[in-house]
Amino acid sequence: MRRTIIGVLGLQGDFEKHAEMLHRLDGVVPLVVRTPEEVRSCEGLIIPGGESTTVGKLMVRYGVDEAIKDRAREGMPIFGTCTGMILLAREIEGSDQYRLGLMDITVRRNAFGRQIDSFETDLQIPAICNSRPVRAVFIRAPIVSEVRGNAEVLSRLPDGRIVMVRQGPHLAAAFHPELTDDTRIHQYFVDIVRGCASA
Ligand code: GLN
Repeated sequence: MRRTIIGVLGLQGDFEKHAEMLHRLDGVVPLVVRTPEEVRSCEGLIIPGGESTTVGKLMVRYGVDEAIKDRAREGMPIFGTCTGMILLAREIEGSDQYRLGLMDITVRRNAFGRQIDSFETDLQIPAICNSRPVRAVFIRAPIVSEVRGNAEVLSRLPDGRIVMVRQGPHLAAAFHPELTDDTRIHQYFVDIVRGCASA
């Protein structure tokens, strides 16, 4: 099988867990990336959880923001989890912090409040599996408060709040799929990357 290079942005946050997850998938070569050159060598990129104002500032300081936007214009799929989702959004409620703005969504940071810092739940994600839900870990998580344009909802909490979206080749999840044993979400992203490569 042809090898697929998936970058994981390693400026801050839990990038190692994503790399470990990608290691488990057939034919995937994970690459922790921190420079524009490294970003350019990827076929797909994961932006992990962390602290979105910090990661945004570091992306600009290291010059990887422009490299990511260039690669996105060339069609490279990007998967943002938690902080990564915030950075992919065009609008961040009440904040002018740096963002890539590649998805037509509005996000609300820390949407579950201080009392519920983190929690786990089972999510229905029909695009991934109709029969077996995905266990999702939320940590100081954002939600998607508005979806516009070509962005489509992939999953909601039982109360209707949106926690996973797709727009073309880009994916965003409010939770941390790298913190369970379930590889299906990473596999779904790798399949998108391979679909783009062969298209
Ligand atoms: N609360 C963080 C932020 O706003 C995101 C938390 C996370 O990535 N787990 O950036």
